[in-house]
Amino acid sequence: MEIKQYVENYRQQLLDYLAKLVSFNSVEGKSEIDAPFGKGPKDCLHEALKICKELGFETTNLDNYCGYAQIGEGEQVIGILGHLDIVPCGEGWDSDPFEMVIRDGKVYGRGVSDDKGAVVASMIALKIIKDMGIKLDKRIRLIMGCNEETGSKCLAHYVECEGHIDMGFTPDGEFPGVHGEKGMIGGLIKSKNTKIIDIKGGIASNVVCNHCMIKVEKNSFSKRAFEDYLNNNDIEYAIDEEDDALIINVKGVAAHASTPQMGVNAISYTLCALKAAGFNDSFVDFYCSHIGLETNGKMLGIDVSDDYGELTLNNGIIYKEDDTIYATLDMRFPVTMISKQVINLMKDNLEDENGIIEINSRVEPLFYPIDSPLVSKLLSAYQEVTNDYDTMPMTMGGGTYAKGIHNCIAFGCAFLGEDNHIHDANECCSIDSLMKQVEIYTIAIMKLLEN
Ligand SMILES: [Zn+2]
Repeated sequence: MEIKQYVENYRQQLLDYLAKLVSFNSVEGKSEIDAPFGKGPKDCLHEALKICKELGFETTNLDNYCGYAQIGEGEQVIGILGHLDIVPCGEGWDSDPFEMVIRDGKVYGRGVSDDKGAVVASMIALKIIKDMGIKLDKRIRLIMGCNEETGSKCLAHYVECEGHIDMGFTPDGEFPGVHGEKGMIGGLIKSKNTKIIDIKGGIASNVVCNHCMIKVEKNSFSKRAFEDYLNNNDIEYAIDEEDDALIINVKGVAAHASTPQMGVNAISYTLCALKAAGFNDSFVDFYCSHIGLETNGKMLGIDVSDDYGELTLNNGIIYKEDDTIYATLDMRFPVTMISKQVINLMKDNLEDENGIIEINSRVEPLFYPIDSPLVSKLLSAYQEVTNDYDTMPMTMGGGTYAKGIHNCIAFGCAFLGEDNHIHDANECCSIDSLMKQVEIYTIAIMKLLEN
């Protein structure tokens, strides 16, 4: 029997399992004894392990951080890493996000794509390999985490308990694979030297700020020049008076911090407009001479790039507390560099009399050449099933599980050009894509089994 036929035979079972997992609200909740990420993720993990047991796999629960299902024997472990936790549903759904529905050949529900659909597709892939009676001299392990969206502490716990894998993939990105993920450096701008009465903007350091509120003294700058600057840049704003102060709200456009050039940063425009309007302030000077409107770190001296892309920089959040202004920096550097090189490039630009930038976190990039065994085997599995020989593995600025474990890249679950509304209302996935995922994962595992 062909693999396609095996997959077809599991169509209904796949949909039933997925509906079951979607019914759990596995958003991170309050940590409890024996439920490090709350009850939702724990219950969902228990259900997933129960399904795996019914399918005839060995199952292990690692303290409700994550669990795994396994087939085969041997020294080496082929790992498939998916996650069962989800992001909050938000508004705007056309149907109950926890009740999977089928419309026009697509399933709808929170997690059907990210990442419960991929987890269930992987379960079926393991089952097909088992059904085919292939002799397994390696262990194939489906690892299911409960904390991917909010810190990946599940994967850290896995590695602590079980070590790294010998080869594998995380179906939590895109086909035909993500062979490079940029490195990340987190920074914090601090400045005490300011006349700004109050400032507040942004929701997360990894999102381009789409709204900034600032309170400044009324006659401390040219209001006309300020407005001209924003009007010339097509930026929306509102100015209100309150006693001797102006309260200014500036609107930007949100985007992910890995692609800050796709957004419009409300903080940057607010501060650059003030500078242009003659607002005389040390912090504003510091900001405009170190960050400004740039999203590639040019003024810091870190506008570097390689064949796979350039460094990106985003100031996501700004606020004032106890007379000090704080602003977060999210910098993502090229996949072929190391953080030390980038920090060296900016080390002379991090501080002056007006402010300081503290570096407070760094994550090294991930990079596997396209002709490495891992990437080329996964790519050929994708090509065999889809006949698409044009799309090549990509690099990206985001971070997946692959950064937290050795010998792993993101592979699937989204196909090029598909918009599955991940992290958004009406998350969906076409049933055909789910079936194709199963076929690709099955063949990918078979290729990883070869020595
Ligand atoms: Zn995900």
